[in-house]
Amino acid sequence: MFKGQSLYLKRLDDGIVELCFDRQGEAINKFDVRTIDELKAATVALRAAGDVTGVLVTSAKDAFIVGADIFEFTGLFKLPAAEIEAFNADQATAFTQLDDLPCPTVTAINGLALGGGFEMTLASDYRVIASTAQVGLPEVGLGLFPGYGGTVRLPRLIGAELTIDWISAGKPQPAAAALAAGAVDRIAEPTELRAAALDLLRNVIANDEWRARRTKRHGAFEANAETFAAVRARLTPSSKHLPAALAAVELLQQAAPCSRDEAARLEAQAFSKIAKTQAASSLVRIFINDQALKKKGKTEANLSRPIKRAAVLGAGIMGGGIAYTSAVRKTPVIMKDIAQKALDLGISEASNLLTRQVTTGRMDQSRADAVLASIKPQLDYNEFDTVDVLVEAVVENINVKRSVLREVEGVVRADTVLASNTSSLVIADMADVLQRPENMVGMHFFNPVHMMPLVEVIRGPKTSEVAASTIATYARAMGKTPIIVRDCPGFLVNRIFTPYAIGFLQLLRDGADFIKIDQALEAFGWPMGPAYLQDVIGIDTASHVFDTISNGYGARMQMDFKHALAVLAELGHFGQKTQRGFYRYEADAKGRLQKQLADDTKALLQPFVAAPREFSEIEMVERTMLPMIIEAARCLEEGVAETAAEIDTGLILGLGYPRHLGGPLQYADWLGLDHVVTRCEHYRDLGALYKPTARMIAMATANSSFY
Ligand code: NAD
Repeated sequence: MFKGQSLYLKRLDDGIVELCFDRQGEAINKFDVRTIDELKAATVALRAAGDVTGVLVTSAKDAFIVGADIFEFTGLFKLPAAEIEAFNADQATAFTQLDDLPCPTVTAINGLALGGGFEMTLASDYRVIASTAQVGLPEVGLGLFPGYGGTVRLPRLIGAELTIDWISAGKPQPAAAALAAGAVDRIAEPTELRAAALDLLRNVIANDEWRARRTKRHGAFEANAETFAAVRARLTPSSKHLPAALAAVELLQQAAPCSRDEAARLEAQAFSKIAKTQAASSLVRIFINDQALKKKGKTEANLSRPIKRAAVLGAGIMGGGIAYTSAVRKTPVIMKDIAQKALDLGISEASNLLTRQVTTGRMDQSRADAVLASIKPQLDYNEFDTVDVLVEAVVENINVKRSVLREVEGVVRADTVLASNTSSLVIADMADVLQRPENMVGMHFFNPVHMMPLVEVIRGPKTSEVAASTIATYARAMGKTPIIVRDCPGFLVNRIFTPYAIGFLQLLRDGADFIKIDQALEAFGWPMGPAYLQDVIGIDTASHVFDTISNGYGARMQMDFKHALAVLAELGHFGQKTQRGFYRYEADAKGRLQKQLADDTKALLQPFVAAPREFSEIEMVERTMLPMIIEAARCLEEGVAETAAEIDTGLILGLGYPRHLGGPLQYADWLGLDHVVTRCEHYRDLGALYKPTARMIAMATANSSFY
């Protein structure tokens, strides 16, 4: 009857037709423009046939349909809102046409039905789901809400409250939850699914009940004003930067008394608005960047040496964390230190983390025991010839690291990759002392290792591609996102972070109030403002790190004034660890440190800064955010990371850069390079930190962008 590249129609018995999604040449079904066009054509063919008694909707892939093709969004979202609205309204007619077929329809949901995939099932009269399948609307994760009739059909099926929960949480719902909610009609074992769906279809063809169902879902739905008010109150605080969930609630409330077609019109209109938000643009970009990194990961995995066993040198804060994470993720590890006390501490930390997993029900005791047994603490180099990768995490001292690495090179195999978790030393300086410098890589974890998702893999001048790929693959095996970067002071994340910190220190120097700076940047979307962040990192550490990194970049990052971090460090105000930094810290009943205002910090800083003066919020934001954009652009130009995607991902995962901005380069694109350059010009008197690169200026003139 119809055969396209994404779906086909096939006649079964008794006038029943199967509409099967089976995207040619790919492992998954998704909704792109072509598939939507084919769905429209299929519904036209079904209607034209005149003798169709019922339609069975199926998928030939493991997942039912995974959703819309997100790669098509970037082009679409650049259009004016009115064009997006018209486009979306037109796309949604494919589902309306299915909804309006003159015969009953039943969908067999065999696997994951997400976003548009789930919305597709809602346009049929009945749904049978495999017990192993899931349905869900994950659009808020992309800064969006459903746009193929999901906001129209789901509340008319399961009610407003549950619909709001499902849309705002964005989580997939297991089959049983879908049945309990009334989103599906039956559950079947996967092997019985097709027969069960056909059985249901034959039954409904025999009676007219499906017509009443349809009438109901084409009308208004009941909306309780109190429910909406409560949800609004819950969602409002997070909606400033991520407005999609709240916008969906407003849409539902507005569309509740409407007919299906009017509600669909409102959905297209609201969707076009949400698609134009900064959050949607950034979150879609983050998704696409993530896909690009996964693709790179596959190439790296192909180049990687096999990793069956690892070793960590140093059982301190970082070494202990690395050993634990490796073991939990099923790479057994030898943990070596020179002090028994450190080994004992490392093992007891790992044991505490495992106990927490067991008590919260995330792991059973036997698995926890096995994980702990796979960490082998020792003081010697016994069995080091069995390890495929080794991570050095001893004290941050170049001489110690050089001697430790030279020694260990003598006891591991010739193909063992040696990685250093240094945070500020240059990889080349360590590789220099080795017989096989091609095996030496940087592997920069963030603290705490088991929580922080990013690992910078640093390629020294002599590092082989195999060594870098092996360490990237090891990081992935540990559940981390690795980014391969070139050797330079601060690597990628701390290098880009340093100009932000200098911007902050210069604001203080010029008389700004650190509390107001924190407030401005937290309102802008940072999880914590720069002063609070330094307290958490440790003022002594931060002061040392910024001085080291800024010395590596000459005049551009020089601070020719005594900065606040140095002042506080000299006073022994190291931040949270001494309970005194920019703020004071007091333990609450649960022992968690709570931030308090410190009365005397401003007075202590006063001799080193200008008289207090008011700065506008925008000035405080620009003076910290612009130098970061420039440094990120420099890193791209210098090839510190290969792509804008890696730079933005690194900053989001390594630093907590606000996701709704998408990373410094995506943020620059959102502002427009011409605007960025103009604002930099405005701050030119503040020095080289605010000087855009020649390429940025050329990009601004050419109206081009990083993505
Ligand atoms: P730490 O002081 O907690 O631990 C260092 C451990 O190394 C100690 O247990 C010490 O006994 C051991 N050690 C010293 N010499 C050794 C040797 N020859 N062989 C084996 N063990 C030896 O330090 P840390 O905070 O875990 O830092 C370790 C490394 O990680 C440093 O290079 C640091 O710059 C880097 N790093 C630290 C952080 C952080 O936030 N702490 C973040 C990223 C990277």
